[in-house]
Amino acid sequence: MTEALKDLLNSAADAIGAGVLLLRFDAEQGDFTVLGTSDASFAHGAVYTPAEGDIIVPVLHGERELARLVAHNPSSPVDEQLLRGFAAAASFTLRHAQELIEADEALKESQMLREIGQHLGGMVQLEDSLQSMLQALRQLLNADYASISTLEPDGSTKWRAMDGYRTEAYKQLVYKPGQGMATRVIAAGKPITLQDIGISPDLPISDFPLHAAEGGISSIGVPLLRGGKSIGAVILTNRTPRNWKESEIATASVVANAAALAVEELRARGSESSQRAFLGKVLDNFPGMLLVMEPPDWRILLINSTMLALLPEPYRSEASLIGRTAREITATWTDQSEGFVAMMQKVFDTGEAISFEQYASESPERGTTYWNWSIVPVEGVGEEGKRVVILIAHEVTETVQAREKEQRAAERARARAEELDTIINQMADGVAIFDAQGRVLRINPAGQRLLGRNVATGARPDDYPRLYGLYSLDGELLTEERLTPMRALRGETVVGEQLMVRRPNGHEIIISVSGSPLTDSEGKISGAVLVFHDITQEKMTERLKDEFLSVVSHELRTPLSAIMGYSDLMLRGLHGPLSERQTRALNAVRANADRLLHLINDLLDVSKLESGTIIIEQEPVNLADIVARTIAHTRILAVNAGVSISNDVSPDGLPDVLSEETKLQQVLENLLSNALKFTPEGGSITFSATLSERSPDDPALASLDPLPPLDPGSQPQSVVVSVTDTGAGIDEEQLARIWDRFYQVDSSVKRRSGGTGLGLAIVRSLVELNGGQAWVRSAGADLGSSFSFSLPVAPDSKALPTSQPRPLYTRGDDRQGVPTVLIVEDDEDQREIICDMLEMEGYKVVVAADGDEALQLAHEVRPAAIALDVVLPRRDGWEVLNRLKREPATRDIPVLIISVVDQQEFGKSLGADEYMVKPLEAATLRTVVRRLLGAEDADQARRKDKREV
Ligand code: ADP
Repeated sequence: MTEALKDLLNSAADAIGAGVLLLRFDAEQGDFTVLGTSDASFAHGAVYTPAEGDIIVPVLHGERELARLVAHNPSSPVDEQLLRGFAAAASFTLRHAQELIEADEALKESQMLREIGQHLGGMVQLEDSLQSMLQALRQLLNADYASISTLEPDGSTKWRAMDGYRTEAYKQLVYKPGQGMATRVIAAGKPITLQDIGISPDLPISDFPLHAAEGGISSIGVPLLRGGKSIGAVILTNRTPRNWKESEIATASVVANAAALAVEELRARGSESSQRAFLGKVLDNFPGMLLVMEPPDWRILLINSTMLALLPEPYRSEASLIGRTAREITATWTDQSEGFVAMMQKVFDTGEAISFEQYASESPERGTTYWNWSIVPVEGVGEEGKRVVILIAHEVTETVQAREKEQRAAERARARAEELDTIINQMADGVAIFDAQGRVLRINPAGQRLLGRNVATGARPDDYPRLYGLYSLDGELLTEERLTPMRALRGETVVGEQLMVRRPNGHEIIISVSGSPLTDSEGKISGAVLVFHDITQEKMTERLKDEFLSVVSHELRTPLSAIMGYSDLMLRGLHGPLSERQTRALNAVRANADRLLHLINDLLDVSKLESGTIIIEQEPVNLADIVARTIAHTRILAVNAGVSISNDVSPDGLPDVLSEETKLQQVLENLLSNALKFTPEGGSITFSATLSERSPDDPALASLDPLPPLDPGSQPQSVVVSVTDTGAGIDEEQLARIWDRFYQVDSSVKRRSGGTGLGLAIVRSLVELNGGQAWVRSAGADLGSSFSFSLPVAPDSKALPTSQPRPLYTRGDDRQGVPTVLIVEDDEDQREIICDMLEMEGYKVVVAADGDEALQLAHEVRPAAIALDVVLPRRDGWEVLNRLKREPATRDIPVLIISVVDQQEFGKSLGADEYMVKPLEAATLRTVVRRLLGAEDADQARRKDKREV
């Protein structure tokens, strides 16, 4: 850290009442590291960790951030404005830090030079040295006149050195506090420029008596800083308006630094020897290069440490310099040495300074370096007060290189932008770019063609729908809210939004628009980009296809019903008896017609779903019920396929879902039939349901696996149902595509499972129509899959209370020696009816409401017979039957299956003894139960006996 920076940070710390850190972004570490600090606890290069209450302001150069200034750990509220002031000063100091650091290092080796300085000290008075610095500076910067003023203890300012004035009259003038330029610079503590002095009402000429007398109107002032305080100012003024360059202000500051030292010393002026020592100090502190030479052969009188350090070997030591001439030395760093010598002669002869900027110098050691040079005549310094010339140089290689780098980067950026421009302009898709307010920054020709209009940039977003004829597909004028760029500006990424554009000629087209936010380097949304293209033709084709599908399916259904109807009639023998072969053939006809109908129904569904003509009538639906029913209906297929199905959807604690019952059943059936299709023998399928407090359309649902358990006390919003199988699984690349219409992973003719590829498309549309979403997960081929969908919980739906284990239901019947019948039926009304019928027959009844209870009671009670419903919660009747017949303890209990569907053969194959189709008739039930219990056999036997007797 340079002295100047240290001073700055220390005085900032004093003023603000907190530690002050200067941070630099370290690209390697990806962090802010400490560049300088007023606080010893932070090492240079340490990574900055913010503390609470830290105030951070940027150190800017124009719009570029050079560093950050932090008030660290403030004990009381920080005046941020003040901190910003210091940041501005730090910006200035930082830009010259490089040079200053070099000067610092050179200082260490400068003992010898200081002695040279002391040697020469006798000839130069301190005041004169101020004067010559000022003169050099004024000539270097081409100012009309210049001065150095100092701040006096009473707040007034006083001239210390003046150069270029027409009048000397003001030399003794003491400026009152607040008057003139110097007090303003001192107060600012940083370089300031003033324009229009005496013209601008803020700068009344009465405040600037010297400007008034000399006709100056444009000034820069640079403070003399010592220990972070302004002790005076260097002021340069022109009589004509002038724009002061950044580099000029920098040069003035460099001189001001040296002048500040001189002024300080002037004040503490003491012995002759301290004066001499001081000269060396001043010159060594002069951060540029300084070379004083004397005619006629330009022998070196004085050289400062900076210059010495920069000279190539063998000139970097005192011994090598003594007695040398400028010609010899300059020859080592420039091939224009002769030119230099000639210029020095010219300056000496004419008494006028010469300066030039960014002079390129080649050296074998450092390659190309750049320098700002001045050769300034100084009077009365040489022997007997002769004129000498001072060569002041100031390396600007870094600035030049940085600028060149910036230029190259800017050129590259421009080239890239042009390339991008060409691409955007030639794209067939429309492209539009918006600013953060949603105003069009640009739109490519294709975009304008699509809209059928010239798009004026800068229009307001709420005007777009009207200006550009933007409608939803339903023909409603879009609102500002719904505009894709506005959605993108809110952070949304929009993909394939379909809109209608009504062109000025009345022609309507449909476009698909995608849009995404544009972010700046800090991740803030700074605009949006849109890409859109015409899909009118596609939409038309799609509509034609949908219409075609719909018409064809309808037309196919009619003849198909006839085929099915006639096959049924024939199978039932209404057209005469059939041979076994005929029956088999006709069954095949019937089964194939069934498949065809299924396919046609799917096609019709899809076309209706696509055209949006399906209207869903949602109502609260008991999910567990429907799952149980779906499984029961499909059980026959599962048993035939050797796949087990388990149902983990417990009615306990499960609220109703909002859906259309038949549609929900269709979804479940499709998923179950897929799972069966793709699960080989020995596999299993599991149904489960989970509650979530997220909304059913919340995309997060699909990515959470497993769903987190519901927070106790929170209100569930959705139920997620999953159908998980241990079957074929799905490759990762296929996962997204299986939902597409007609998509099948294995669409080869040889594939083992039939299907159309419509099932999942229907599932997804139906679920979405009900307000949910459907998704799938699979670990890969042969690793099984899990299809899930979400549905909204019906409002006001109370979760069914968790059922308590019910006491054994016996209707208070404690008769002994009477046959007991176990009735398994979940529907209460049905249960009552069956109970009544059997009790009237004199049986004792025990009831179970679900499959689990049925198995438990069968073991506990050992009934004489069981009447078993098929559709049951938890375990359906088929599974109960299967278990009863597998276990030795229950195997011999006769079972009557009571079902709504006729699957007699299947029931018998699982071991059912009797089968009845609902609705039940009392008489038939009586006969069947008797037959079950062997009672009828016994009766008949009795009657037979009587006859025989
Ligand atoms: P379909 O079953 O009539 O072929 P779907 O739309 O129902 O049509 O399914 C599309 C494709 O998704 C199927 O062909 C199959 O490749 C895959 N798929 C669906 N369900 C499963 C599953 N449970 N396991 C493995 N793959 C499945």
